[in-house]
Amino acid sequence: MAIKLDQILVVDIESTCWEKTTPPEQESEIIEIGICPLDIASGERLNKESLLVKPERSSVSEFCTQLTTLTQEQVDRGITFSEACSTLRKNYLSKERIWASYGDYDRSQFHKQCQSRSMTYPFGNRHINVKSLLAVFYALPREVGMAEALELLNLPLEGTHHRGKDDAWNIAGILSTLLLNARRGSFNSP
Ligand code: AMP
Ligand code: MG
Repeated sequence: MAIKLDQILVVDIESTCWEKTTPPEQESEIIEIGICPLDIASGERLNKESLLVKPERSSVSEFCTQLTTLTQEQVDRGITFSEACSTLRKNYLSKERIWASYGDYDRSQFHKQCQSRSMTYPFGNRHINVKSLLAVFYALPREVGMAEALELLNLPLEGTHHRGKDDAWNIAGILSTLLLNARRGSFNSP
């Protein structure tokens, strides 16, 4: 399939999680897919959307609600993981576009969840890891978390950290800054 180079789909997922160990009979599942398409030519963030996904093999712990603000009641009103993957493909042309996330967690969790349900992976094979890209662009001594990256670039942390749609928006801001700085040739210091 030909790659469309109009937008990069910046994606950030939230999943069911626990403070220590995963309870027996449960597994970590995606409960929010945050999406922020970034216009490649202008570096503008186009919008942000949250797809809430109802978990089928786990429930939202108190710890998970504290981290993400998402409650069981909220995700119970969500769509299925299969419907969410269809929305990515149909509304965002996710198979044809480059997508990006912060670190490798989102990519590996999508792979894992699709594999365990015998479902088709909703993305193509073009993925940008913004966390490693930032570290190599600025020759940082180590990769840094999203909040630290925003500070480094003098960007505000907008919305609620650990909500997929707000994380996706902020990560798209980091990627946009990298792209625009690269085009300006202003790479010496963040
Ligand atoms: P994030 O994009 O940083 O909000 O994290 C994505 C997902 O990773 C969360 O929805 C959790 O499932 C998991 N996660 C992140 N931080 C923690 C943590 N401190 N303890 C347990 N799970 C976490
Ligand atoms: Mg997040």
